[in-house]
Amino acid sequence: MENTIRMKGTQLSVPSTPVIPFIQGDGIGPDIWSAAVRVFDAAVEQAYGSSRRVVWKEVLAGERAFSETGEWLPEETLTAFREYLVGIKGPLTTPVGGGFRSLNVTLRQVLDLYVCLRPVRHYPGIPSPVKRPESVDMVVFRENTEDVYAGFETPMGDARTVKLLEFLKNELGWNIREDSGLGIKPISRYGSQRLIRAAIRYALKMKRKSVTMVHKGNIMKYTEGAFREWGYELAGAEFPSETIAYSSLAGGDAGGRVVIKDVIADAFLQQILTRPAEYEVIATMNLNGDYISDALAAQVGGIGIAPGANINFDSGNAIFEATHGTAPKYAGLNKVNPSSLILSGKMMFDYLGWDEAAELIEKGIIGTLEDRQVTYDFARLMEGAEEVSTSEYGDAIIRHMDNK
Ligand code: NAP
Repeated sequence: MENTIRMKGTQLSVPSTPVIPFIQGDGIGPDIWSAAVRVFDAAVEQAYGSSRRVVWKEVLAGERAFSETGEWLPEETLTAFREYLVGIKGPLTTPVGGGFRSLNVTLRQVLDLYVCLRPVRHYPGIPSPVKRPESVDMVVFRENTEDVYAGFETPMGDARTVKLLEFLKNELGWNIREDSGLGIKPISRYGSQRLIRAAIRYALKMKRKSVTMVHKGNIMKYTEGAFREWGYELAGAEFPSETIAYSSLAGGDAGGRVVIKDVIADAFLQQILTRPAEYEVIATMNLNGDYISDALAAQVGGIGIAPGANINFDSGNAIFEATHGTAPKYAGLNKVNPSSLILSGKMMFDYLGWDEAAELIEKGIIGTLEDRQVTYDFARLMEGAEEVSTSEYGDAIIRHMDNK
């Protein structure tokens, strides 16, 4: 179909009027979506006039899907994301209890979106708990399909747990307390290397200086330690002239090559506070990546503004998403900050190669923040700020795109 984004070789082929599926999301989802989509359309129109336009296609997931179809994540939604390759979503309620898995985790796993991509940078004016938030300029590549997140868990006392405990005792001599629940932590060479490959390619494309693998390999040698080993192995085998291991630098100059280094996760969490400028592109496993992404987001303004995406760089499949939750107490109040979703849209336009639209969105946000027109969450932390509603904030972004 002529309006469908396709993967041609290793490149996306994007028609001038691509169909892009979107999920508004639950709770505050509709509030932020209606502000965001106006910003997206305005940016595309201003950048390209009538020669390009996004054809938005609504698909359902979460509470609305459940009330309209009886399914939390209808097959039709998955089919649309598979077919149209690139989509965007607001936050979704995770149903509590009843053995439900998070809809976000399910989407990532079913579509094999193996990279959770989170750029973290500071925009002037945004309140931050650290002294020099402008030193933070990192992009986190978090592995999305493995680790203790993969869901291989059995509860205490369950017949499967008892069987596993017996096996572990008899075959491996492992004495684990009987009243334990069990979880398996799979970290594969394939999964690690495709994630690290994506991070290195990104660093090369964006001319970033280093890729740092963050791990607890000193303790978990055959999972997190192996991730580190496989990373160095991959860099040496696939990018021998474009990268150099930090250990081979011996204090010398990298000569324009991307430096591959690694750091233990607990030290990393200290160093992103004490000397964040030393880190640029981060490659890490699922659980570390979860903590690191939110810790970094807090340094530059928190979850109201942090954008994100889940991407399979081989198939091209990608879903861009607000990284915060559904904040149900604010639903329908036209109050919350839509920046996370709007900046996720900016990332999406970057991914499509619609750079001019992406730049206009960023320019609009920067101008609005400079004018101190912000939603309640920033207004309560910024001196002299004017508190505006979600929709007024969107209008201000559109106005600031025009400023020469
Ligand atoms: P949450 O919805 O992110 O809200 C926690 C708090 O964060 C809010 O009360 C609010 O703080 C602040 N916040 C969140 N989004 C904001 C925004 N756009 N603008 C300004 N402030 C914002 O987290 P939660 O209450 O733990 O989770 C609620 C539901 O969301 C759960 O069902 C959870 O499973 C789901 N969830 C979904 C996703 C996702 O879809 N990606 C992610 C996380 C959670 P104040 O109260 O201080 O104003």
